Amino acid sequence: MKLETVQETGSFKIRGAANHIAGLSAAERQHGVVAVSTGNHGRAVALAARAQNVRAVVCMSSLVPGIKVDAIKDLGAAVKIVGHNQDEAEVEAKRLVAEDGLVMVHPFDDPMVIAGQGTIGLELVADLPDIAHVVVPLSGGGLIGGIARALKTVVPTVRITGVSMARGPAMYASQQAGKPVPVAEEASLADSLGGGIGLDNAHTFALVRELVDEMVLVSEAEIAAGMAHAFFEERLVLEGGAAVGIAALLADRISTPAGPVVLVLSGQNVDMTRFLEIVTGASTQETGEKTS
Ligand SMILES: *Cc1c(COP(=O)(O)O)cnc(C)c1O
Repeated sequence: MKLETVQETGSFKIRGAANHIAGLSAAERQHGVVAVSTGNHGRAVALAARAQNVRAVVCMSSLVPGIKVDAIKDLGAAVKIVGHNQDEAEVEAKRLVAEDGLVMVHPFDDPMVIAGQGTIGLELVADLPDIAHVVVPLSGGGLIGGIARALKTVVPTVRITGVSMARGPAMYASQQAGKPVPVAEEASLADSLGGGIGLDNAHTFALVRELVDEMVLVSEAEIAAGMAHAFFEERLVLEGGAAVGIAALLADRISTPAGPVVLVLSGQNVDMTRFLEIVTGASTQETGEKTS
């Protein structure tokens, strides 16, 4: 298990955000960065920017709960509340880029972000030279694309499995269709895997097509079982999006797991009251608001 849960801000996304900001020119640093996210990416951009003395603006809609707004403000970012959905927040972010010169930090479809997430692959091969198979949560594909590119460069035989939730798996549907397609967003326990890959996807669609050997889907009940297993057997708190690999293994959805297998456990940011309901079986339904 690769524990990205113990990263600062509670997910792997600090890697890509930190790498992107570290690569800014002096002029870009002056203008600052902008991100559209209420979740793990927003937190990561806020912290990485503060650590590198760069101004960060995070755009989100007025429907985002105050607790999430505060979490990002506490990490030092300016929060800009605009409109009533993610799309309107994105329009504002693009305006800040066009008019004020801020630099957009995309959550996955960006070479510096992908390379940052890819440092996981380098760490894996350093720790486990005979690594044979890696199982990675899959949404926009920055995480799996970076890991696959780094790892397969060093160990071409390594097998890469991506796991998404059956409810609205954008990359899975896009690969099936042969091009980026929109998916209807549905509430899921794996809320951090929600959202599309972008109809103008520039990097991750092609990376996944080239480098990912297998993509599998898991149900809500399987995700809940994965979270419960991680908690009761491994004493680990995983958010739904991070438990999909364990879920897929337990449900026997991964073909031929062979040799040393690594599960990337991508984050731990879950409301603990909800978490306890899920792992104790009091609830396996996600009804709350989605984040990305
Ligand atoms: C963002 C995220 C993912 C998916 O990463 P992509 O690069 O979008 O595929 C998986 N797990 C967690 C916890 C995340 O925050």
